[in-house]
Amino acid sequence: MQWETVIGLEVHVQLATRSKIFSGASTAFGAEPNTQACAVDLGLPGVLPVLNEAAVAMAVKFGLAIHAEIPEVSVFDRKNYFYPDLPKGYQTSQMYQPIVGAGEVEITLEDGTTKPIRVHHAHLEEDAGKSLHEDFHGMTGVDLNRAGTPLLEIVSEPDMRSAKEAAAYLKAIHSIVTYLGISDGNMAEGSMRCDVNVSVRPKGQEAFGTRAEIKNVNSFRFVERAIAFEVERQIELLEDGGKVVQETRLFDPERDETRSMRTKEEANDYRYFPCPDLLPVVLDKAYIDHLRDNLPELPAEKRARFENELGLSAYDASVLSATREMADYFEEVKDVCRDAKQAANWVQGELAGALNRENLSIANSPVSARQLGELVARVIDDTINGKAAKQVFQALWNGQGASADDIIEAQGLKQVTDTGAIEAMIDQVIADSPAQVAQYRDAEPDKRGKMIGYFVGQVMKASRGTANPQQVNELLRQRLDALC
Ligand code: ADP
Ligand code: MG
Repeated sequence: MQWETVIGLEVHVQLATRSKIFSGASTAFGAEPNTQACAVDLGLPGVLPVLNEAAVAMAVKFGLAIHAEIPEVSVFDRKNYFYPDLPKGYQTSQMYQPIVGAGEVEITLEDGTTKPIRVHHAHLEEDAGKSLHEDFHGMTGVDLNRAGTPLLEIVSEPDMRSAKEAAAYLKAIHSIVTYLGISDGNMAEGSMRCDVNVSVRPKGQEAFGTRAEIKNVNSFRFVERAIAFEVERQIELLEDGGKVVQETRLFDPERDETRSMRTKEEANDYRYFPCPDLLPVVLDKAYIDHLRDNLPELPAEKRARFENELGLSAYDASVLSATREMADYFEEVKDVCRDAKQAANWVQGELAGALNRENLSIANSPVSARQLGELVARVIDDTINGKAAKQVFQALWNGQGASADDIIEAQGLKQVTDTGAIEAMIDQVIADSPAQVAQYRDAEPDKRGKMIGYFVGQVMKASRGTANPQQVNELLRQRLDALC
């Protein structure tokens, strides 16, 4: 039996407002526990929430970026439940009239193909506090700093068919929210987390299978691993004649498995009702138009421009537009060296390799975009050859000079293109290698091509790597063939 995987994601994005969604308390990360939750965040008697306009603007920007309908009216509802990290007894969320309606996100797969994923809606809500299980023996600590932090929950349709598609979707969302500047997208700090809904069905069957929901997965890699495990578990269960039960599961990255948390029977009845403390949000057309007119260039548009105007391959365009930092860095290198393809090669080759090795993000690159652009310009105008360029890159990386030109000068890496100088080195090498010259002369003409490598190596060494390799090759061939 062939099985098909069906996945829908609920992504929680922490919005980058300075204060909470309904209060003036700070949202800064990493403060001392319980120093940033005010009476409104705790829902103490006698206080009233006031909606943060910045959170509304951010949600609408996201909606516009995914070409969603923006309803004129949206409403906040109370989702009632008790938990130690939610002392007010309800979470303020949007159940029936969310701020963002149906839209669409385009994902790019590894082979460069694209696929549209429908977004059912996105709604605003407040985050809860955090339970701290590790720091206290036999007790649980509660930190309410996060209570009231604005979240945008983006709910997809069940349109994804593999773990790779789900990861690509999450990356697309990450890239849209960071381009828009509405979230820092820092997954390690919990700024983006998702609930993964997974089911399987026999290939060709229309009806969906029963799904399990895996809660709070917080990295691209974990999304893929959690789905891989879950799909296998469900298929095995069904093939053994069992049934998948609708339930909430937890992914354990240490053991690489998902475990049951609660089944549908144990699920809460949240008794949603419109929050009597908050007015419905009414957006007029001028407000929405103003936000639309001020949207930045988005990842899909940038990718298309990199491909169509700069002539990059679909793959390069997609990698280089994946994050705003990456795109900005690449564009500055390109503007300085004036060659998009060379800029793309260097950013994805030498630079990406070095960043990977030292586990650095491009924002923390020791080599600035300007420095790299100037280096690439020196390769393009033939001041240095490819080998010397790598040396200059290393020197820039290690902070051994402020610019490519300084390093080229200081280390004498300028490419030797003067024919006379190269010929003098060739003469010396030939004079020093009588045995190899004799071998070359005695070899069949079609074997000589391979033997020339030895002489090229010697000349390059004599020039300390600075001779122009094409010229060395050509001149050597002429000189050696003249000896035969
Ligand atoms: P609920 O009301 O229980 O939250 P929803 O219908 O809102 O359920 O769906 C929640 C998420 O689950 C959505 O992202 C949706 O795409 C996904 N989903 C729904 N049914 C399935 C299914 N059979 N398999 C996989 N994902 C599903
Ligand atoms: Mg839901």
